[in-house]
Amino acid sequence: MYDITIVGAGPAGATLARLLGNKYKVLLLDRRDLLSPQEGSFAKCCGGLIAPDAQYMLAKMGLGVPKDVVVGPQLFTVRTIDIENSLERFYQRHYINIDREKFDRWLVSLVPTSVDIYCGSLFRSFEVTEKNIKVAFTHKGNTYVEDTRYLVGADGAHSLVRKKLIPNIMPKSYIAVQEWFSVKHHQPYFSAIFDSDISDFYSWTIPKENYLLIGAALQPGDDANYKFDQLKSKLVKYGYKLGESIKREGAFINRPQNMQDLYLGQGNILLIGEAAGWISPTSAEGFSYAFKSALAAADSLRDERENPLKGYYAKTKHIKRNIIFKNLKAPFMYNTLLRKAAMRSGAMSMSIYKN
Ligand SMILES: Cc1cc2nc3c(=O)[nH]c(=O)nc-3n(C[C@H](O)[C@H](O)[C@H](O)COP(=O)(O)OP(=O)(O)OC[C@H]3O[C@@H](n4cnc5c(N)ncnc54)[C@H](O)[C@@H]3O)c2cc1C
Repeated sequence: MYDITIVGAGPAGATLARLLGNKYKVLLLDRRDLLSPQEGSFAKCCGGLIAPDAQYMLAKMGLGVPKDVVVGPQLFTVRTIDIENSLERFYQRHYINIDREKFDRWLVSLVPTSVDIYCGSLFRSFEVTEKNIKVAFTHKGNTYVEDTRYLVGADGAHSLVRKKLIPNIMPKSYIAVQEWFSVKHHQPYFSAIFDSDISDFYSWTIPKENYLLIGAALQPGDDANYKFDQLKSKLVKYGYKLGESIKREGAFINRPQNMQDLYLGQGNILLIGEAAGWISPTSAEGFSYAFKSALAAADSLRDERENPLKGYYAKTKHIKRNIIFKNLKAPFMYNTLLRKAAMRSGAMSMSIYKN
């Protein structure tokens, strides 16, 4: 019998397990092999940029990113390309460029040894009984059932825990497609590309060691591949030189737009990270939200005076407010006319010297 079972050992789940592992009997499940990955193991599709808000959260948790997690180049500039309005601006912003798999493995390595970590395990279902919750998962073709007092869904954008809890209320979801190209020379910035012919969200490029990642958050539908190819053709015209395509990957990405999209759980089941809908609706930055929600859930589960879910609701009010604020700000990024006015003003932008 476990006190807490956490499904998902991404940034949210690994953080919660780290914070609770010494006090409670914790089981941490993930389908990925984050302990001893083999060549070709399933990897999370991600841009792998630690934005300032996430850097703040790492600092707050007393953590510094180890050097083998960091990749080059380090980025201090966002190149914003508005294809519809033919506008371009550079803004100063500092990211830490990382290898996402190594980042997740590092976070898991910080989990106390008292936690049972079952990697390569696929969560299947749960059943709430009078006494506890029964959690079923498969590992190497065998099915296992464990009893737990609390179940935490930290299983990301396509959370099965959430789907089983409330099948019909999922946040607005996009298909993120990302393709890796080998390149000889980098343009040392993160580009954010706005073009409503491609998506009503945004597309990006990120340099990573000898590669350039091109990504887009696309509305689900048959034409996602067509739109992605259109994006690549447009970027070539903006001077991006794409070498050999190394791999293409995909993942779901959530975009919470109203308060219903944020769902924190029910009874003794809590959702954290992107499973709950915690992610920036404007930039799709998710690490800071994963950390904030894991901290709030840990505090609530530790506080035995009150119901953990109630405590978790109270402790995440500020994150909710932050998402409301970002949605209010969204038209300045995603409405063609307002974005045109904002970019034309040149406010906060910088000029780049080119040799
Ligand atoms: C293409 C792309 C680029 C992104 N780039 C950035 C970025 O640069 N910076 C940033 O801050 N955010 C970025 N994000 C968002 C960020 O990746 C997520 O918000 C963040 O990872 C959420 O953390 P999490 O722990 O909640 O979920 P996840 O990181 O998704 O972790 C969920 C874990 O649950 C496991 N899991 C899922 N289902 C099951 C199951 N049934 N059984 C067992 N295990 C399961 C998964 O294997 C995974 O390890 C990006 C997202 C995408 C899709």
